[in-house]
Parts: sequence; structure tokens; C-alpha cells
Amino acid sequence: MEDERKAMVAVLRRYKIQDEHVLEAMGKVRRHVYIPESIRGRADPYGDHPCPIGYGQTISQPFIVAYMTQRIEVKPGMRVLEIGTGSGYQAAILAELGAEVYSIEIVPELAEHARKALTAEGYTKVKLRTGDGYKGWPEHAPFDAIIVTCAPDKIPEALVKQLKDGGRMILPVGTGVQQLVVLEKTGETFKQIPDMYVRFVPMVKGKDADDAGSTTTNRNSKNKDESGK
Ligand code: SAH
Repeated sequence: MEDERKAMVAVLRRYKIQDEHVLEAMGKVRRHVYIPESIRGRADPYGDHPCPIGYGQTISQPFIVAYMTQRIEVKPGMRVLEIGTGSGYQAAILAELGAEVYSIEIVPELAEHARKALTAEGYTKVKLRTGDGYKGWPEHAPFDAIIVTCAPDKIPEALVKQLKDGGRMILPVGTGVQQLVVLEKTGETFKQIPDMYVRFVPMVKGKDADDAGSTTTNRNSKNKDESGK
């Protein structure tokens, strides 16, 4: 699989991904293990396309993962909130870059799969929550960066509130046609920078029953180390 990862990184370079830290993380994280075993054989996990992960969801194409990660300029120690844990792959990339990762997933089975995969891969400090991402994670706000990997029809206000002064959020916005938007917050004002057109699964509206959420900290892995993974 290492050769497949090298080939994937070569494709990312052709797409003009230039951040060497992002390229290194993409070369290191074992993308195939985040695809549930029952569907792993169906699509090349390292191919230049999204991959199914069950429950009608997908991991984004490697280029989109790398691009969104590059745009939020992740630095070690940054507190990053992800909405839409899915397989856990994007969370692993963020953790590999040294971020303190908080990730919320609305489908409990996917959250459970992601928790297991992240723990098995040694990303023991990633904090996961099953619940509705529209509300963010106020207990751990403010965040240096927020990355949303499902598409709301408009920018969720609660997430903007939970962004730090000087923080940055990237998200796909729209129904049908979606556009990536980078939002940069300065004090109480923010700038919206429209970016490329994309296709993500919709961000679904949670029921009130999801409000409480359930929080899991990955603490059981033997592979703990100090680098935040
Ligand atoms: N980042 C993921 C891919 C996410 S696919 C990865 O690396 O694998 C989008 C995910 O967003 C799906 O798992 C979907 O269930 C989740 N989602 C949709 N609406 C949501 C919401 N309101 N809150 C949290 N997660 C949501």
C-alpha cells in the first residue's frame, strides 16, 4: 500500500498541492484502513476519486482532503473542529499534522467505526462526538480552524461563533451546486472567500434527540505518543 500512497502523493503534486506537511501526512496515513472492511474491495482506496464508506457516505477524493487541509493552514497544537467524521480519515490527517482534533458525526455507526480505526492507527487523542454538527462543540470552543465535510445550505451561525478571532473555516455551501467557502474571522467581522465548485453529501439537520451527543476520547490504544496522534 505504500506504493499506492506514493502514487497518490504524486497525483496531489500534479494538482498543485504544495504544502509539504500536508503531502507528508497524506503519504503516511493509511487511507485504506478507514474504509470499512466489508466495502474495501469495491473501490481503489488510493484512486483519484471519492470512496464509499457505507450509509450512503463517502471519503472525499484525496485532492479535496489535501486541498481543504492546506487551506486552513494546520499547525501543530492548533485546535481544529471537524464536522462529519465519516470514516475518520480526515481526522487522522489533521492529527498527523499535530492538531488537537475534535470531530462530530451524526451517524452513530460511522462514529463508532471511526473511533475504532483511529484508535487502531494510534491517533488516540482525537476527540469524537456523536451528534449534530450544526451546534458545533461549544464546550471546547473557540477553535483555530473548522473544517466541514458535508454541505449545509448556508453557513451555520453557531460554527462561526465558535471560531477564534483570526481563525479560519472551510466548508462546502449549497444544495445541488455547492461551492467551497473559506471564512476568515477578525473580531466580530468575517470575510468570505468563494473557492471551487464541489460535490459533498448534504449536512443533515439533526433531531433534538441528538442534542446531548455522546463524547468519546480515544484513550485505549497502546501506541500513544507525544505527537498528538
Ligand atoms: N470527513 C469524512 C468524510 C465525511 S462524509 C472522512 O474523512 O471520511 C460526510 C459526513 O458528514 C457523513 O459521515 C455524514 O453522516 C456526516 N454528517 C452529515 N450531516 C451531519 C451533521 N449535521 N452533523 C454531523 N455530521 C454530519
